[in-house]
Amino acid sequence: MKEKLFGAVEAEKENLFSLIQKLIQIKSYSGEEKEIVEFIVAKMIEFGFDESYHDTFGNAIGKIGNGPIKIMFDAHIDTVKVTDTENWVHPPFAGEIVNGKLYGRGAVDEKPAMAGFMIAGKVLKQIYGDNFPFTLYVVGSVLEEDADGYPLYHIIQNEKIKPDYVLLGEPTDLKVYRGQRGRMEIKITTTGKSAHGAHNQKGINAIYKMMPIVAKIEKLDKKLKPKQPLGKGSITVSNITSKAPSLCSVSDFCQIHLDRRMTIGETKKTVMKELKEIIKKHKSDAKISIPNVEGIGWKGTNFSQEAYFPTWVYDEKHPLVDAAMKTSKAAIGKAKSGVWSFSTNGVATAGHFGIPTIGFAPGKEELAHSSKEELVLNDLLKATKFYSLFPFELASRIKRRSL
Ligand SMILES: [Zn+2]
Repeated sequence: MKEKLFGAVEAEKENLFSLIQKLIQIKSYSGEEKEIVEFIVAKMIEFGFDESYHDTFGNAIGKIGNGPIKIMFDAHIDTVKVTDTENWVHPPFAGEIVNGKLYGRGAVDEKPAMAGFMIAGKVLKQIYGDNFPFTLYVVGSVLEEDADGYPLYHIIQNEKIKPDYVLLGEPTDLKVYRGQRGRMEIKITTTGKSAHGAHNQKGINAIYKMMPIVAKIEKLDKKLKPKQPLGKGSITVSNITSKAPSLCSVSDFCQIHLDRRMTIGETKKTVMKELKEIIKKHKSDAKISIPNVEGIGWKGTNFSQEAYFPTWVYDEKHPLVDAAMKTSKAAIGKAKSGVWSFSTNGVATAGHFGIPTIGFAPGKEELAHSSKEELVLNDLLKATKFYSLFPFELASRIKRRSL
C-alpha cells in the first residue's frame, strides 16, 4: 500500500509544486479569502473529491469516503498582511522558486499543507475510488490569524461536522507536534475620581491604583513554573490606557490589557484566581474581565468568541500520536515529536472539544509571519506522502484497538 501511494504522490510532484505556487500567488489576507476559497473548492472537485463546497462561515471543505472513522485535515489558508517595513528578497506574492525553495507570504504559515492535503486526496481517489475505512474532511479554514480556533469551532458547532481525529497543517518542520500552550486575554480596569490638577488632593488617581497591580504582574511572570513538554506559561502587560477630562486633570480611568500564555495545569479558572488574589491583597476595587474577539468573515458572517484558548497536549503513547510517528517513519524515514510555541486551531478541536489533534507539515515555525518565509519543495513532497498514508495507518490502529 505504502509503495503504491508514495509512487502516485511522486507522479503528482509537478502538479503539487505548481499548486503551492498558485496558492502563494493568490493573496488571502484574513477576511479576504474569497478568491482562494473558490479556487480550492473548484480544484477539489477537479481532483475527484466526493464533496467540495464552502460553508456558511467561508471555510473550504472537501470530503472523501464514507468510512466510520472521521478524520479532519485542516490548514488555514488566510495569512497575515505584508507590511511596508518588511524586507522581502523575493516578492511576497510572486511564488518564486529558486534552487528547490519556494518563497512568499504563506510559504510557511501555512499554505503548503493545503496543497499537500489536496494532492493526497486526489491520489486517494485515483487509487481507492470509494473504498475507504475512513471519512476524510479536508478543510481550508479562514480567519485563523484573527481568531485561532474559531473556524473549526464553527464547523463542529454550526456545520455539525464532528471529526474523531484532527491533523493540523501548521509548520512543524516535518515533526509530529502534539500540543501547544493555551492563551487568553484579560482586561483589568481601575476607576478613580477626577479633579483639577491644581487641586489634585480632591481626586483619586486611577493610574496610581493600577501601578501596584502592574508591578505584581511583572513579578508573577517570573514565578510561573515550567511544565514539560510545553514549558513555562507567561503573563505580559501588552497595553495600558487611561482617561482624564483633560491633560490638566486627575485620571479617573485606567485599563491594562494582558496576554497570558498557559502551560499544563493553567486554565481560565487558575489564571483568574491568581489575578483576583493580587487585587484582593491590595484591597483594590479593580475589575477583571475577559474580552471577546470579534470580526467578520468574507461571506459577511459575524463572529464573536471569548478570548480564551485552552492549552492542549497529547502523550507520545496516544494512538493518534503513535499512528503519526509510524507514518512519519514510513514517509520520511524518521520520526520526532514536538510542540508548537504559537497557537493553532487545536485550541478549538483539542482544547475546547477534546478531539485528539496533532500537526505535521513542512516549514519552520519561527519563520512564520516574517519576510523569510520559505518552503523546501522536497519537504512538501515528503509531507504529502505522509498525508496520503496517515488516514490508513490511523484507521487500522483504531480498528485493532476496538477489536
Ligand atoms: Zn498558522
